[in-house]
Amino acid sequence: MNILVLNVGSSSVKFQIIATDLERIQKDGDERLCRGEVERAGGEAIVTFQKKSGEKQKSTASLRDISAVVDYLVRYVTSEKSGVSEIRSTADIHAVGHRVVHGGERFSESTLIDDKVLRGIEDCIDLAPLHNPNNIKGILAARELLGSGTPQVAVFDTAFHHSIPEQAHLYAIPYHLYRRHRIRRYGFHGTSHRYVAFRYRALRGLTKEQTNIISLHLGNGCSAAAIREGVPVDTSMGMTPMEGLVMGTRSGDLDPAVVGLIAAKEGMSPSEVETLLNTQSGLLGISGLTNDMRELLSEASEHDDRRVRLAIDVFCYRVRKYVGAYLAAMGGSEAIVFTGGIGENSPEIRARICQGMEWAGLKIDAAKNEQTIAREGLISSEDSTLPAYAIPTDEELLIARDTVRVILGQPHPS
Ligand code: ADP
Repeated sequence: MNILVLNVGSSSVKFQIIATDLERIQKDGDERLCRGEVERAGGEAIVTFQKKSGEKQKSTASLRDISAVVDYLVRYVTSEKSGVSEIRSTADIHAVGHRVVHGGERFSESTLIDDKVLRGIEDCIDLAPLHNPNNIKGILAARELLGSGTPQVAVFDTAFHHSIPEQAHLYAIPYHLYRRHRIRRYGFHGTSHRYVAFRYRALRGLTKEQTNIISLHLGNGCSAAAIREGVPVDTSMGMTPMEGLVMGTRSGDLDPAVVGLIAAKEGMSPSEVETLLNTQSGLLGISGLTNDMRELLSEASEHDDRRVRLAIDVFCYRVRKYVGAYLAAMGGSEAIVFTGGIGENSPEIRARICQGMEWAGLKIDAAKNEQTIAREGLISSEDSTLPAYAIPTDEELLIARDTVRVILGQPHPS
């Protein structure tokens, strides 16, 4: 089956077409036919497209909204021009898998989309006002283009965290606020943490029940997940993806009183402060320079900029603090796993996070760490009792596989 995977963000759409089926999943033989991204939808958008074994091509197109983007992508992929020989018409797209950001308390696993499910995703809009509306637009646009006979599956960022117990997901605020508005911690990046846990157990030859890890997804967005016996018992993001670790532009954990103080002192509304904490904070906020870790590291090595150094220090310290907290929460972990753009590619940040963790049995092997970039592998020394691994994430692959399994009514291996 050729699965179109759509990841519709607030102003960008990432997509892939993956050929897969139950046999290919079993043999790890899924095939990526093409991938790409449309950035800055709403105006003159930048389109990046890549065939399975080709260079990235960049172009621009005037795409006013999500529906225009999906329409453009599907028309392009099915056209001769794209060179994707497996996809000649819309009939060659057999199903669509969507990354849906918020599934609230309702969706605990990937789900075939019908009108009832669409209403359920709509009901979660209050919890993710920037994301869920665009996810819905992507679903409707695909339905319009491919027809309602083409199955669509929602894969929720929150679903994997459904197992997190009340003691970890409740905020200590009046309980009626939870009852009335479902204000609680949900967690995100679930597809990534689930994929990493799955790869880890494949790498080590373990069963799901034997999988006890702290998974660290460090990208533009960052989160940690404490996974015991294959399921999360805690995670760092909360009701929204703002809580927890320091991120590219998000503050992560913060004293809630800071919001009122900034609002009063700077003459801002609560929603303006929220935007500031979402888009002007984190690495960007502290450094005053960039949200991009690679740029910060090269800046730090070229000039001794105090704020750049501080941004990196605060980032690494926060991650280490969460590792410590999760070791306590889990009663010890069998490994820690790095993933995401920073976690997969930066030996320096991994080493800095793990600095001083020998007390917990974690010793980074400098050579292994340096060599393990954008690939799976052990990065700690042989005598580490708490080993560390780097495992590249692949959310799109998991979405494609879930789509196949849901359509065929196969159980989730999670
Ligand atoms: P997203 O969360 O948007 O999917 P990614 O997972 O691609 O983002 O992560 C982006 C982050 O990864 C950026 O901060 C980028 O600088 C960082 N990154 C990518 N490669 C490297 C590298 N070689 N060294 C340090 N940071 C890197």
